[in-house]
Amino acid sequence: MSSSDLKTRLDKVKSRIADAARRSGRESDEITLIAVTKTRTAEEIQEAVGYGVLDIGENYVQEAVGKYETLDSIAKWHMIGHLQRNKVKQVVRFADLIHSVDSAGLAAEIGKRSVEIGKTSDILLEVNLTEESAKFGASDETVLKVAEEVGNISGIRICGLMGMAHMTSDSEETRPYFRKLRMLFEKLPKEQQIYLSMGMTQDYEIAIEEGSNMVRIGTAIFGPRK
Ligand SMILES: *Cc1c(COP(=O)(O)O)cnc(C)c1O
Repeated sequence: MSSSDLKTRLDKVKSRIADAARRSGRESDEITLIAVTKTRTAEEIQEAVGYGVLDIGENYVQEAVGKYETLDSIAKWHMIGHLQRNKVKQVVRFADLIHSVDSAGLAAEIGKRSVEIGKTSDILLEVNLTEESAKFGASDETVLKVAEEVGNISGIRICGLMGMAHMTSDSEETRPYFRKLRMLFEKLPKEQQIYLSMGMTQDYEIAIEEGSNMVRIGTAIFGPRK
């Protein structure tokens, strides 16, 4: 893909975000766009940052660490992929927001490792409401329990929820899922209602209409992954 393609795609995504925000009674600057950069090179990320991307999202710890070593803090780093406890120590060093926290144990480990380096890590609790066993995330009851259990431990700050709808060719089918996630978000303590991370290439406009304020978009910006 040539550079101008990247800029064209990014501008199109931004304009669709703005339209969806307006349909939900908000302004585009209330929605954080995370460019999802798994499988993309450090050069591609640099280019996207050059076009105004402020937030990037990575799935795999090793891959993210490699790029962080090259790029440092050129943007905010979001960890959006499934996270194993033995990788937490590496992740807290560079992540600005960890989206994929699905248990009290993982949250506690993030707290412990963050305290060790004098940091408070911002985290989101990942919800699995689609009941697909292959997906990660906690059930809705579990999420509220975890929020309560680890809400006050040192080293972490719960900043909201993250969720993924099932893959579908009809994005309208994702709407009830996003609506449920938003209702769950509103049950969190007020101080934890900061980010509702939902919506990706297939469904970000619907997610925004349903209250998302943080979308994670890869394919629509960079083209298909190999
Ligand atoms: C890969 C990924 C995305 C982005 O997916 P696209 O369909 O390329 O926009 C968003 N969220 C998570 C958790 C992902 O793993």
